[in-house]
Amino acid sequence: MGKIMAIFNQAGGVAKTTLAMNLGYHLGKLKQRVLMIDMDPQASLTLFCGLEPFDLTQTIYESLVLEQPAPIQSLSDLKFELIPSNINLSGAEIELVNADLRDFRLRDAIAPLENQYDFIIIDCPPSLGILSYISLVAATHILVPIATQYKAWMGTELLLRTVKRIQGKANKELKLAGFVPTLFAKANSQDCRALNAISEQLSLIAPIFPALPRSTAFADAVEEHLPLALYQPKHPAVAPLTQLANYCLKKL
Ligand code: ADP
Ligand code: MG
Repeated sequence: MGKIMAIFNQAGGVAKTTLAMNLGYHLGKLKQRVLMIDMDPQASLTLFCGLEPFDLTQTIYESLVLEQPAPIQSLSDLKFELIPSNINLSGAEIELVNADLRDFRLRDAIAPLENQYDFIIIDCPPSLGILSYISLVAATHILVPIATQYKAWMGTELLLRTVKRIQGKANKELKLAGFVPTLFAKANSQDCRALNAISEQLSLIAPIFPALPRSTAFADAVEEHLPLALYQPKHPAVAPLTQLANYCLKKL
């Protein structure tokens, strides 16, 4: 069975979507069949991939709320396929409140596709609401990007409690794949302290992957709708991304 990886952290701006897109590309490059799912109503992943969310009439929303077949877009240059999102998805938070088997709506939407992919990567929204919850219920693994900053580190306890709660009930198979330190500026002493704290404390819980350096190249690449490795192949952040993809392929 394929792996279903939720990129999750309830904090915004910690590079979830950036990580999702780049990891999806690297796994695709390793000849894996990859499907990305944009579960954020802000549709950053959809935008990053070069689609215009407002123009889309079929998104993950129709699959979740109206139980229609998932509208899969092929993006061969990016080496993955995508189920896009748009702002309609914000309505799903309310529309699903009393829905039958609500917790399993994403799992059920993915079920008929599972055999077609080696990896399904879910880009979660920055919240602990229903959209994140059903993402974690559908996932086999969680990958947590964590910014190497004091405040971001503070949110991990809540994050881990949420994961434990889901593991205890709705998804007993869910595994924490690891933490990816992000936005790391090695010249900044606070970032170094935060990275040390992450390594010391969180490595007891799950693997800590090599840090992704802070660099404007990530944002520049996204403006061109490209993963970093296609935008700037020699960029120092390409190596940790390749390493992470290899780990996901061999160890998960
Ligand atoms: P999230 O999905 O967690 O909200 P994003 O992936 O959208 O975070 O990233 C938030 C912003 O930070 C974006 O503008 C993105 O281009 C930028 N960004 C992501 N990774 C890096 C990085 N390593 N260095 C600098 N900026 C980054
Ligand atoms: Mg995002």
